[in-house]
Amino acid sequence: MTQVCLLLLWILLPWLNIVRIEIQGGRGPSIIYLGQSYPMDFPYVLGLIIPFVILIWCIALLTYYKGRVFCGWACPYGSCVELFEGLSTAVWKGSNRRVAAWMRRSSFHKWGLRLSAGLTLALAPVILALSIAAYLVAPRQIIHAVFAAAWGRGGMIQTTLLAWVALTVLISWLAGFAVKFHFCRMVCIYGMGQAMVVSAAPSNQILRPRFLPASTDACGACQACLKACFVDLDPRAKQLVLGFSTGCFNCGDCIDTCTTVQGHKGESSLLSFSAASQET
Ligand code: SF4
Ligand code: SF4
Repeated sequence: MTQVCLLLLWILLPWLNIVRIEIQGGRGPSIIYLGQSYPMDFPYVLGLIIPFVILIWCIALLTYYKGRVFCGWACPYGSCVELFEGLSTAVWKGSNRRVAAWMRRSSFHKWGLRLSAGLTLALAPVILALSIAAYLVAPRQIIHAVFAAAWGRGGMIQTTLLAWVALTVLISWLAGFAVKFHFCRMVCIYGMGQAMVVSAAPSNQILRPRFLPASTDACGACQACLKACFVDLDPRAKQLVLGFSTGCFNCGDCIDTCTTVQGHKGESSLLSFSAASQET
């Protein structure tokens, strides 16, 4: 729910004129902030940059104490990839055990669910493309180019939007079905920065998934949590890799998976988030 709400926030910010840049305004480029338009001059640009820098520092502080929670819970890329994984599991098959279990148990019509998930899977990259475009082009211009102007008569903006949507759909499908979290591990500079912060933090304060029983014998080693982990970690291990690009993202997918596995037996998850300092 956190990921869905934050993703919706990223998408809605420009459409609601909360924050965006307008590069094609009548009086030249301008900054739209909380519905007001400001010229793209020095004090206003600084006013936009300072809150962004403060936000980066707050996330760094959060990472220092809580691990890579931004990557696991708030990153739009990670949320989109998880959304793809969940939807594709609903449509045919995928690795999201919670969605697979929900599909098996759901009393809704299976093909109705599959069709809805398939439509969302097809439309989500288009909505994403238009929302990214809305950060730079006025939403009313986008709406006019897409819905009001006849195709081929919407001018340069319609052609550019069409090309942008096609490119975003292609990249989204590539990211959602092939690249997935390899991008976070190998390419994302921001993720690498967070991994460096985690490496510098005292390991006895950082939040991480933890195996609750005294020994792993208790779980019967179904290994579902290992399969759910996209950085190939064993969340039951006493020493979990936390820093580096291959470290734990604190996404909680292993905990969710164990909740599903144990739920079949009427028991609660054997994994839970906690800081090492809380261990007995
Ligand atoms: S999912 Fe739960 S029960 Fe299965 S191996 Fe992991 S901790 Fe054990
Ligand atoms: S160990 Fe668990 S919380 Fe950490 S990255 Fe893997 S699935 Fe996510």
